[in-house]
Amino acid sequence: MGLLSLGTPLAWDDAKPYADHVRTHGITQFLNIWNRVKDRCGDELLWGDEIEYMVVTFDNTERNAKLSLRQSEILAKLEKIVEDIASGCEKSAVPTYHPEYGRFMLESTPGSPYTGHLTDLLTVENNMRIRRHIARRYLKMNELPFTLTSFPRLGVPGVFTEPHYDPANAVSSHSLFLPEEITNPHARFPTLTANIRRRRGSKVAINLPVFIDKNTPRPFVDPTIPWRRNIYPEDPEARNGAAKLDHIYMDAMGFGMGCSCLQLTFQACNVDEARKLYDALVPLAPLLLALTAASPLWRGFIADVDCRWDVVSASVDDRTEEERGLKPLKNDRFQIPKSRYASVSLYISDVWYNRPEYNDINAPYDRAIYDRLISEGIDSQLSRHISHLFIRDPLVIFSEMVDQDDTTSNDHFENIQSTNWQTVRFKPPPVNSPIGWRVEFRSMEVQPTDFENAAFAVFIVLLSRAILHYSLNLYLPISKVDENMDRAQKRDAVNQEKFFFRKDIFPPGVPSPLSTPLSTPHTSGANSPVEPNGEGGLPRKARKLNNCFGEVPPPENGFAFGPMADEYAEYTLDEIFNGKGDRLGLLGLVYSYLDTLEVQPAEMIRIHEYLDLVKRRANGSLITPATWIRNFVREHPAYKFDSVVSQEINYDLFVAVDEIERGVRQVPDLMPSSYSAERAQYRPASPQTMATSQST
Ligand code: ADP
Ligand code: MG
Ligand code: MG
Ligand code: MG
Ligand code: MG
Ligand code: MG
Repeated sequence: MGLLSLGTPLAWDDAKPYADHVRTHGITQFLNIWNRVKDRCGDELLWGDEIEYMVVTFDNTERNAKLSLRQSEILAKLEKIVEDIASGCEKSAVPTYHPEYGRFMLESTPGSPYTGHLTDLLTVENNMRIRRHIARRYLKMNELPFTLTSFPRLGVPGVFTEPHYDPANAVSSHSLFLPEEITNPHARFPTLTANIRRRRGSKVAINLPVFIDKNTPRPFVDPTIPWRRNIYPEDPEARNGAAKLDHIYMDAMGFGMGCSCLQLTFQACNVDEARKLYDALVPLAPLLLALTAASPLWRGFIADVDCRWDVVSASVDDRTEEERGLKPLKNDRFQIPKSRYASVSLYISDVWYNRPEYNDINAPYDRAIYDRLISEGIDSQLSRHISHLFIRDPLVIFSEMVDQDDTTSNDHFENIQSTNWQTVRFKPPPVNSPIGWRVEFRSMEVQPTDFENAAFAVFIVLLSRAILHYSLNLYLPISKVDENMDRAQKRDAVNQEKFFFRKDIFPPGVPSPLSTPLSTPHTSGANSPVEPNGEGGLPRKARKLNNCFGEVPPPENGFAFGPMADEYAEYTLDEIFNGKGDRLGLLGLVYSYLDTLEVQPAEMIRIHEYLDLVKRRANGSLITPATWIRNFVREHPAYKFDSVVSQEINYDLFVAVDEIERGVRQVPDLMPSSYSAERAQYRPASPQTMATSQST
C-alpha cells in the first residue's frame, strides 16, 4: 500500500486545494528520477513476490471462524522475531512482514529479492513456507494465517470479527456492514477510506451478481441489509437504488482492499526492457486472473463470479458523478471510464511492433502534464502513460509532507502512482537506492497453498524470460484485453470462456525462432544465455535467468501490418497455455526457453511440477480454488441451496482449507497427487534459523 508516512492527514476539503501542487511536484520528482536513471543499463534480474494473508480466529465452541483484528500486535511481534533470526542465514530467507489495509491482514515478502540463479528459483516455495510458518508460529493458539482471497462472511450481521465491533461506528466508510475497526488504524487508511467517499459524493457501491441456486428467493432482495438504518447521511443510498436486485451489495473500501492477492515484481535491465515487459504482461493479466480464480464467496453469499477484481475496483472508485458520465462536466476536468483500480489502459513500449492502434480505448490524460513531459524530452508513449495516471487527485496528503525537496523525495510522485492500482505497474527506481527499473504483475488471486503460489510465481518469471528471449509479441487491442478481464471473472471461466489472443506471437515478418534448434539463442542481446568456454570448446549453457536480451530489428526487406482484426482470435485457455496442433502454447515456450539453460535433472523435476499445475489448471483437469470453494459450500450438509454461506459452513471451510494447506486432506480435483503432508513441511533455511525461531 505504499509508504506509511507519519503526520496529520488532511480531510478531503482541505486536501483538494493541494491537488495541483502534488501533481506538479510529483512530475518534477519523476523528471528528476528520469534524468538521473534514464540511461541506466545492465541491471540483473532481481525479482520477488508479495503474499497477503488474513488472520482468522477459531471459536471451536461456537464453531465460528472470525477475522482477528490484531494486526498491530502481530506485526510488532513478527518484527522482533525477524530481527532475532536475521543473524546467521541467507538474507532472502529472512522474511519481511508489512501492514495492509485490513486490520486482519498481513503481507509478507522475501527479505531480499531472488536473483536469476536457477537455485533461487527452487527456494521460492520454501521461502513462502518459512514466511507462513513464522507467522503461524507466533499467532495465538486459536489463530491461523490464511491465503484466501476473500473472507466469505466479511460484513455479515453479527459476529465476524474478534473482538466484535458494531458497524454503527464506521465513521470513515459510513458502511452499513463493516465497523471502523476493520481498517488498519494508521491514519493513512481511515483517511483514504473517508476521502474516497467524500470525493465521490457517496459511498462506493459494489454489486456482484448472486449465484442463483435451487432455493434462492427470486427476485433476490437481500434480507440482511439494514435497509432502514438512519445514522449516516448515506444510509438511504441502499434503498434508493445503490443496492441492486439479485446482487450482493457492498458499500465500503474494506470489501475490496480487504482481499488478498499474489503480486510479482521484476527488475529489468533498463527502462526499455521494463516497458517491453510491461506491455507483454498486460494481455496476460486477465488470463492469469482466470487461472488463479479463488473468490466466489462474498458477504455471506455465493456469487456468480469467481474473482475479486471488480470488487476491489468498485471499492475504491472515487470518481464523481461527472467523472462517471452521469452528469455533464461542470466542476470536474475529465470523464473517466475506469476506477483508479482497473486494468491497464495504455501500452507504453516503443518497440516497432507496438502499433499505436492497440491503444484503442478512451484513456484521458492531462494535456498540460503531457506537454511538459514531451518538452522535457520524454517520448509520447511514456508521456501518455504518466499524464494518464496523473488525471487522478491525491487522496491522502499529510500536512507535514506538502513541501518536499523534489531532488531527494519521490513522495508526491508515489502519492499518485501508488493509488493507480492497475493490473501491471511500471515502477521507476526510487531515489537514492540501488534498485533499477521494475515491472509488477498484479492480477493474480492468492492461492490457498504455497505450492500453488510458488507455481504461479515460477511460471511467470520463466514466461517473462521466454517473452524477452524470443521477443514474443503479445499485443492485442486494449479493448480486447478489457473484454478478457470481464470474461476472466465469470464463474468457471477456465472451462466456459474463450479469450482473445494473438494468432502469431512473433513480431511480424520475423520467422519463428523455434524453427531453428531450440538451444540456439534467437536474439543477440548483451547477455545472451549461452556462455562461451564450455567443455570441449562448445558453448556452455547458462545457469541463470537473464536480463538484457536485446531487440529483434524489423525485417530488412520491410513488412506491412495487416488489418488489426486479423491479428487475433478467440481461444480456450487450454489452447493458449498448452497449445494446439503445431501451435506452441505459452508452456511450450517456457519449456523451450528452459532448454537454453543448464537445468539439472532434479531441478527440472521440481520446475515441471510447477508448470504442470499451470497446465492442468488451463486444461481443466485440476479445478480452480474458486470452483473448489463453491463446490465445498454446495456439498456441505448444512447448505440449504439458498446461496447463503452460514457460520457453520464458513467454519468448516476454513478447517478444510487449513487441512489442504498442511497436506493432510486429499483433494485430488484441486491439488496434484504429489502434494502431501511431507511436501507441505517447511525446511528451515539454516540450522540457526530453526534454533533461534524455536527458542524465541
Ligand atoms: P509494493 O507493495 O510497493 O508493490 P513490496 O515492497 O511489498 O512492494 O514488494 C516488492 C517486491 O519486489 C518484493 O518481493 C521484493 O523482494 C521485490 N524486490 C525488491 N527489490 C527488487 C528489485 N531491485 N528488483 C525486483 N524486485 C525487487
Ligand atoms: Mg499488498
Ligand atoms: Mg504496496
Ligand atoms: Mg507490498
Ligand atoms: Mg505490490
Ligand atoms: Mg470492463
